[in-house]
Amino acid sequence: MPSGSPLSNLEIACAKVTGIDFSDGEAVTAHFNQRSGLDQSQTGTAEKVRLSPGGLVIMAAGALITPKLLLLSSIGPRGLESEIFPGQSPAPFVIDNPLVGVYDHVMSMVTYNYEGSVRGRTCTV
Ligand SMILES: Cc1cc2nc3c(=O)[nH]c(=O)nc-3n(C[C@H](O)[C@H](O)[C@H](O)COP(=O)(O)OP(=O)(O)OC[C@H]3O[C@@H](n4cnc5c(N)ncnc54)[C@H](O)[C@@H]3O)c2cc1C
Repeated sequence: MPSGSPLSNLEIACAKVTGIDFSDGEAVTAHFNQRSGLDQSQTGTAEKVRLSPGGLVIMAAGALITPKLLLLSSIGPRGLESEIFPGQSPAPFVIDNPLVGVYDHVMSMVTYNYEGSVRGRTCTV
């Protein structure tokens, strides 16, 4: 997207996506909860929109909600349905993707004291 140029076909909705329907591996319908504002305590109304064929769905609901939405949309590691949705007798995932989920990742930090000077720009807050 060229910087500074508005997108004529972009509409930002105060909507909470609840799931996406697929047909033959292609996203066809997005389900969402429509609210008049950003207040999460509002009940809102359940809505759905039909997606344009051949389009692209960008999932960007964060590290936890994105995999949750994918799982609720029947995209996930086939064979682990009962483990992911315990006590619900879930149907097999329509799209098998073993990478959908939340994973631990290794992180380590090293700290040390440095008494010398640091070259570079000085910031004043
Ligand atoms: C406490 C904290 C401090 C951090 N500090 C730093 C830092 O100093 N530097 C740094 O580089 N990174 C930092 N991070 C990490 C950084 O915030 C994330 O890596 C980054 O925000 C991820 O961006 P994202 O767009 O994937 O998701 P997010 O920023 O989480 O955005 C997801 C968006 O999706 C929306 N959403 C959620 N569910 C739905 C739904 N169902 N329907 C519609 N919309 C939905 C949310 O409202 C949100 O606006 C920090 C994170 C945390 C938690």
